[in-house]
Amino acid sequence: MARIVMKFGGTSVADMSRIRHAAEFVRREADAGHAVVVVVSAMAGETNRLVALAEDAGPPDPALDARSIEADAVIATGEQVTSGLLAIALQKMGYRARSWQGWQARLKTDRAFGRARILDIEAEALAAAIDGGEIAVVAGFQGLTDDGRITTLGRGGSDTTAVAFAAALKALRCDIYTDVDGVYTTDPRITKMARRTSKLSYEEMLEMASLGAKVLQTRSVELAMAYRVNLRVLSSFVAPDADNPGTIICDEEETMEQRIVSAITVSRDEARISLLNVPDEPGRAARIFSALAAAAVNVDMIIQSPARTSGANISFTIPEGDLERASSAIESLKTEIGYDKLIADREVVKVSVIGVGMRSHTGVASTMFQTLADRKINIHNISTSEIKISVLIHSEYAELAVRALHQAYGLDRDAIGATPS
Ligand code: ASP
Ligand code: MG
Repeated sequence: MARIVMKFGGTSVADMSRIRHAAEFVRREADAGHAVVVVVSAMAGETNRLVALAEDAGPPDPALDARSIEADAVIATGEQVTSGLLAIALQKMGYRARSWQGWQARLKTDRAFGRARILDIEAEALAAAIDGGEIAVVAGFQGLTDDGRITTLGRGGSDTTAVAFAAALKALRCDIYTDVDGVYTTDPRITKMARRTSKLSYEEMLEMASLGAKVLQTRSVELAMAYRVNLRVLSSFVAPDADNPGTIICDEEETMEQRIVSAITVSRDEARISLLNVPDEPGRAARIFSALAAAAVNVDMIIQSPARTSGANISFTIPEGDLERASSAIESLKTEIGYDKLIADREVVKVSVIGVGMRSHTGVASTMFQTLADRKINIHNISTSEIKISVLIHSEYAELAVRALHQAYGLDRDAIGATPS
């Protein structure tokens, strides 16, 4: 009897009728003879509501670390509700089903409340239950510390719960049911030419998740890659069949598609800081970036170019929410760093092209730069990895750039409304 993990996101358990609908999907797998673990999110919007309540409760007593510990106790409840409701729905359909909270399922985490990392899952009891024919409905997003406190795994964390259980249970598959029917070549709200991709490698999905595609939590993909979990993203609105196969995320060798570029992403959560005329001598960049590291700012695209005078201009990108913190960290060291002027810019987006084919093909970057040049789109910063090229451009060109690149790399679906690949 193969074990499988099914995960339902917030819109797929948004109310009792959606929960019953999800139960029908679970029924299908149970009837096929699988040992089933179902991981659920909170009802759509519920975690936001709980986060707001916890914030409203007021500033905590820092001595007690009250905020993060107690906030997690509040925020984790959304998943407790849906796990119980889905278990009831399955029982009503005649199945043996049981809810499992994070502590009951023995999902152990570190003490980073609000963004805890999974250390271990002691899955013996749960494995015995499902192998004995019971359906386990696990509350996603939550775990417990070694001293028994409830933690949450960061927003979107129930994807990571699902993958972690799939790894711990050596599941045949981990199916992520969501409100889209798979992973698209780009955001379908930007272009109707976007297509569902049938297969992606872990590396590509990881880049996509961290570069702005919102389908899966980045950490869930990291975990799937590390443990070679057979991951699939598919719609909970239509039955999975030949017409709704979803997107499979697997090893690179198994991705048959010969496309060089698999996806275009756009990340809007970007800001740029430029420091003008920094003295061109050893240690200045080290000073800047150690100050940012100390302020816990994650720096991304960095460029340095000669200034008109003797110094250098240094520019880099950071998450938009960190802009104030980053600027003040640097401004407090203005004389020490010795720059003339700090310019902050929020009107930027990062557009990326991603594909494992880049490892073996040339000309990918030149196509990107030429395509943008033809549209008169100026590139501020550039960064690359083995399988992606990112450019920073003015936010007003985000959509234009995505559409042009999607077409330039041959990703557009057939103009005559052909079915997606
Ligand atoms: N309910 C949590 C959130 O909204 C976790 C999840 O849905 O994955 O972030
Ligand atoms: Mg999600």
